[in-house]
Amino acid sequence: MTRRVRIFPVPASRRTERVRVVTTAQTQELDVQPTPLALLLLGREADPRSERGVECPGDLPSPSDPDLVERARAAKEKLGNKVFVLGHHYQRDEVIQFADVTGDSFKLARDAAARPEAEYIVFCGVHFMAESADILTSDDQKVVLPDLAAGCSMADMATAEQVAECWDVLTEVGIAEQVVPVSYMNSSADIKAFTGKHGGTICTSSNAKRALDWAFEQGEKVLFLPDQHLGRNTAVRDMGMSLEDCVVYNPHKPNGGLTAAELRAAKMILWRGHCSVHGRFSLDSVNDVRERIPGVNVLVHPECRHEVVAAADHVGSTEYIIKMLEAAPAGSKWAIGTELNLVRRLANRFAPEGKEIVFLDKTVCFCSTMNRIDLPHLVWALESLAEGNLVNRIEVDKETEAFAKLALERMLALP
Ligand code: SF4
Repeated sequence: MTRRVRIFPVPASRRTERVRVVTTAQTQELDVQPTPLALLLLGREADPRSERGVECPGDLPSPSDPDLVERARAAKEKLGNKVFVLGHHYQRDEVIQFADVTGDSFKLARDAAARPEAEYIVFCGVHFMAESADILTSDDQKVVLPDLAAGCSMADMATAEQVAECWDVLTEVGIAEQVVPVSYMNSSADIKAFTGKHGGTICTSSNAKRALDWAFEQGEKVLFLPDQHLGRNTAVRDMGMSLEDCVVYNPHKPNGGLTAAELRAAKMILWRGHCSVHGRFSLDSVNDVRERIPGVNVLVHPECRHEVVAAADHVGSTEYIIKMLEAAPAGSKWAIGTELNLVRRLANRFAPEGKEIVFLDKTVCFCSTMNRIDLPHLVWALESLAEGNLVNRIEVDKETEAFAKLALERMLALP
C-alpha cells in the first residue's frame, strides 16, 4: 500500500497534534509526533500554515539552474509594460537585478500606484508589503508575491484578535478614548485597518516622529504597533520622553502583563513586537566594532534595541542610511546596523570611492523571510503571468482596504 504523510513545520507549542495520514485506500486521523524540522520543498505542494492557505503548485527549477536569468529576462520582456517589478532594499542581488524600481515598502507601493498601465505588480518583498501595494494600487492592478511564505516575523507579532483584545483592556481600564493608535508600515492590512477605524495613523521609520507629534495632538496616549523599538526610540530619542513614559503590552499575558495603574500612567503603550533582524544587534556589537575599527561611524536603523540606538553615532531609515553613505567623505569608515543584503550592496557600491563599510555584527544576519523570494520563484511567477496564469495574488478585502487606506491617508496628510 502506498502511504504518504504530509508533515508541516510545527511551532514548539503544538509539537504533538493530530496530523492527517493519507493512504490510497483510506483516510484516517492518527496521533503521531511530527518531525519539527521537516519542510516542504519550496514551491512544491502547499503548506496552509505558512502559505496562508493559497496554492503554490509551481514546478520550480533548482536555484543553480544557469538558464534562470535568461528565463526571467525573457518572461519579463514578453510581459512588457504589463508587469512592474518592485524590489525591496533587503532583497537578494540575483532578484534585485530584475526590479524596475527599488526602495522601502512605502516608496515601492507608491511607485506601483504611479504605474497604472502595469496590470501585474510583482512584489519582491514580504507579505505585508504586497498587501500595502494592493491597498494603494487601483482595482485593475493585481499584486503578486512570488513566494507566499515570504512573511514578516514582526508583522506576525500583532494579530487582529490580539489587538482587539488589547483595545478591550484599554476600554475596561477607561483610557481607550485617550489613546490614538499609531501603526508601523510593517504590519498586516488588518492592523492598518484597526488603526484607521480607531482614528489612528500609519508611520514609516522616516516619519515616525511626525506621526507621533500628530497623534499626541489628537489624544493623550499612543498605542504603538507592532515594533516596540521604533516606538520607544522615537519617543525617547526624538521627542524627549523618558523610558518610564513607555510600557510594553505583552499580548501573551492577561491585560498585557500590565496593571491598570501602569496603563493609566503611560504615555506610550508599546506593543511587544520586534524585527528579528534588527533585534539581533547588541551593545556588544557596537563596542566590538569600535574596538576593531578605530574611528568607525556606527549607523543603525531605529528598529534596533534602545541601547544600540543610544550607543550609535547616527540613526535612520534605510533611505537615510543610503543618503548618509552617499554623502560620506572618501576614507570614512562605517558599521551599519541593518539587513545584510543591503549592507553588502552598499559596501560594494561605495568601495571604489574609498568608503569602508562593514556589517555591524560579526554574525551574518539576513532577513530569512525576505530571502524566500529567490530567482526560481521570480521566474515561476513571471513565466506564469506571461502564459496568462495569475498566481500568488495578494488581495485585501474591500472593508479592510477602506479602513487601512484611511490610516495611510492620514499619514500622507501629516504636516
Ligand atoms: S527585516 Fe524585519 S521587519 Fe523587515 S521584513 Fe524582515 S523581519 Fe520583517
